Amino acid sequence: MHLIDSHCHLADSRFDEDLATVLVRSRQAGVTQWVVPVAQQCEWEKLADLLRREAGILAAYGIHPWYAGSFEPDTLERLSLHIKAHRKQTVAVGECGLDFSAGKADVRTQLCWLRAQFDLAEQYQLPLILHAHKSLDILLAELKNRPSLRGVVHGFSGSQQQAERLMEMNFYCGIGTGVTWPNRQRLRDVVAQLPLSAILVESDAPDQPVFAMRGLRNEPAALVSVVEEVARLQGVSADEVAIAVNANAKELFQ
Ligand SMILES: [Zn+2]
Ligand SMILES: [Zn+2]
Repeated sequence: MHLIDSHCHLADSRFDEDLATVLVRSRQAGVTQWVVPVAQQCEWEKLADLLRREAGILAAYGIHPWYAGSFEPDTLERLSLHIKAHRKQTVAVGECGLDFSAGKADVRTQLCWLRAQFDLAEQYQLPLILHAHKSLDILLAELKNRPSLRGVVHGFSGSQQQAERLMEMNFYCGIGTGVTWPNRQRLRDVVAQLPLSAILVESDAPDQPVFAMRGLRNEPAALVSVVEEVARLQGVSADEVAIAVNANAKELFQ
């Protein structure tokens, strides 16, 4: 089985010490390609450097809502120039999105960043990697105004109905390690019903460990457990899931 991890933060400082070993473990598990979105500006150059050192990495650049702060046109301009300079190695704009949990930037600021990055995705003809926390309905309404956009809502945890709306807009649902948690029954029920043509799989490492590794740093090798759990929920083989999600990832990112 060869798998593409559609969302893992390999430029995160928690991998600084041992990234090479993490990637060896990942390759041994069959996870041989990684879509790496950056979360903050300090990771842009780090990721560009990683691309030069390791094969199999697919880069995405953006401003994550956790680090949105105030809206800064200069930072947006730098992001645009960075994507332009690395356009050939860039497979998406992101991670960007909306996060309405406590302590995050205000809604207006987050919407400014989101719409500006919609513009970049359009300008550079790239898909979006979207983060949505307590914000999926507003995100869906924003996407409805921009029918030319494509992408994935990563770490999907919405309803069946929200998943269907995403599918109608040609967006994938990024299914992560949440499916391995017994207390995420609603998510597990939704995933059991989703067509395989609508999903990508992701580890979201180093955050969100699978249930069996709870409390530990997450790694892309854990993606195998996500695929196995999706297969179990759908009553199909893990190979069938792997083939479908790889085809989806390639279709979106390459
Ligand atoms: Zn996210
Ligand atoms: Zn992420």
